[in-house]
Amino acid sequence: MDKLVKLNLKMKICKKCPLWRTRKNVVPGEGPVDAKIMIVGQAPGREENLQGRPFVGRAGKFLNHLLEIAQIDRKKIFITSPLKCFPPKNRKPTKKEIETCLPYLKKQIEIINPQKFILLGEVAFKVFFPKEKLKNFQGKWVRKDNKKFFVTYHPAAGMRFPKIRKILEKDFKKNKNSIKS
Ligand code: URA
Ligand code: SF4
Repeated sequence: MDKLVKLNLKMKICKKCPLWRTRKNVVPGEGPVDAKIMIVGQAPGREENLQGRPFVGRAGKFLNHLLEIAQIDRKKIFITSPLKCFPPKNRKPTKKEIETCLPYLKKQIEIINPQKFILLGEVAFKVFFPKEKLKNFQGKWVRKDNKKFFVTYHPAAGMRFPKIRKILEKDFKKNKNSIKS
C-alpha cells in the first residue's frame, strides 16, 4: 500500500494523546507525495476539524492569498502541521501533545523528502529549531541537514495584527523566486 495512505490510516485511529477524545476528524495534511515544498503550521482549527483537511478555515483563506502572492500552486505543495488533531477551543497545543504527535510529521518528511519548508509560526519553528528564537529568523532562509527552511509568522497572527499581515505579504512577495526555485 502507498506509504502515505498507510500512515494516514494510522493517524485516523490514533489515540496516543488526549486530543483524540474531542476531535471530529484527524487532519493528516495533504499534497502530492513528491512535493518539493512542505508547509508546516500549528494545529488544525475548528473548520479543519470538521472537514479533516488542513488550512480550509479563515487562516487557510489567508494562506491561499499568500500563496497567490508568491505564485505558488497550492496543489503542488504538501500542507500539514505538527499536531494532527484539533485542540479544544483552539487553545495552543501543549509540549507533551506536540512531542507525542511529532513522529507522524517526521514520517511524512521521510516519505515526501521535501527540499524546502515554509515554517508558519512559533510551534512549527520550534519543532525544527528548538533552541532558537523565531524573531531572529523571521523572513529568512535557514539551512539545516541539507534542507532549506523559510521562517515566517503564522497566517492566523496576520489576520489578528495588520502589522504582521503586511510582513507576511512582504515575505511571500520577496521570496517568491527562492521558494519556487
Ligand atoms: N492553522 C494551522 O496551523 N493548521 C491548519 O490546518 C489550520 C490552521
Ligand atoms: Fe494522535 Fe496526534 Fe491526534 Fe494526539 S494529536 S491523538 S498524537 S494524531
